[in-house]
Amino acid sequence: MTVNWEIRMSRISSTNIGSIKVTSLRDGELVLPVEALLNLNEEDAKEIKDNTENTLSYTNVNAFLIQNGDRNLLVDAGCRELFGPTCGFVQDALAEAGVLIEQVTDIYLTHLHPDHIGGTLNADGSAVFSNAQMHITNKEHKFWSKENFDAVEVNGADWAGLAQAVVNAYKDRLNLLAEGKEIMAGVSTVAIPGHTPGHSGFRVDSEDDSLIHLGDILHIQNLQLIDPNVSTVFDIDHDTALVSRKRVLDMVSNDKNLCTSGHWLSPKFGHIERFGAGYAIN
Ligand SMILES: [Zn+2]
Repeated sequence: MTVNWEIRMSRISSTNIGSIKVTSLRDGELVLPVEALLNLNEEDAKEIKDNTENTLSYTNVNAFLIQNGDRNLLVDAGCRELFGPTCGFVQDALAEAGVLIEQVTDIYLTHLHPDHIGGTLNADGSAVFSNAQMHITNKEHKFWSKENFDAVEVNGADWAGLAQAVVNAYKDRLNLLAEGKEIMAGVSTVAIPGHTPGHSGFRVDSEDDSLIHLGDILHIQNLQLIDPNVSTVFDIDHDTALVSRKRVLDMVSNDKNLCTSGHWLSPKFGHIERFGAGYAIN
């Protein structure tokens, strides 16, 4: 029997940004298949294909809990069972952080991909978070609300169907945001287009501290920091996503911002620095 050692580890990690507490919630972990990766060098492609124990394409799925005063903001909600048995533990992570489902006051979705929104719905399609207002950027909401998606597996009709089901389940308490706008005191969206049209991270500013969430500019940290040209089939607009990835990595390494991201491994909070031709997290 294979035992995944991370399952027994804590799912949470916290940091304080001024008076705001930010906790990463590890929904689960996955190894991406070579078919999901683009612009790999031959050696890495061979390693991922031939070595089933490889860690090059290992990734985590992270949600976040941001607590400020009486607000408990959940950022993204994990996969539920949509990507298999190693993911779907966001509720366990919330419990570990001491927050009940009904105590979540707000949900912000960085974008409407299934690994970020699956956990907002029960298997019967009803809303998990019965007391939460849901925040989505206008642009992201508009994109997934279209009717004419092709029947392709990634970014097609199935994924749009799930996005529309989530929007529908929360339609009475949906707040559509302009990009860059405040979600709640001290927390704002940050537009990072390309991965999806309205794909956004967030920033937290309190007292003299700040944190920037880089959204999904990195899915496979072990490969994309060394070579930011490596990408995945999940980016809807590859060229724009690549420009965004390079621009944001450049910006946060110049500005020395504390960062986190939707698919980072541990540690969940760190600084991105230039390293060789690419970057490293310290
Ligand atoms: Zn994602």
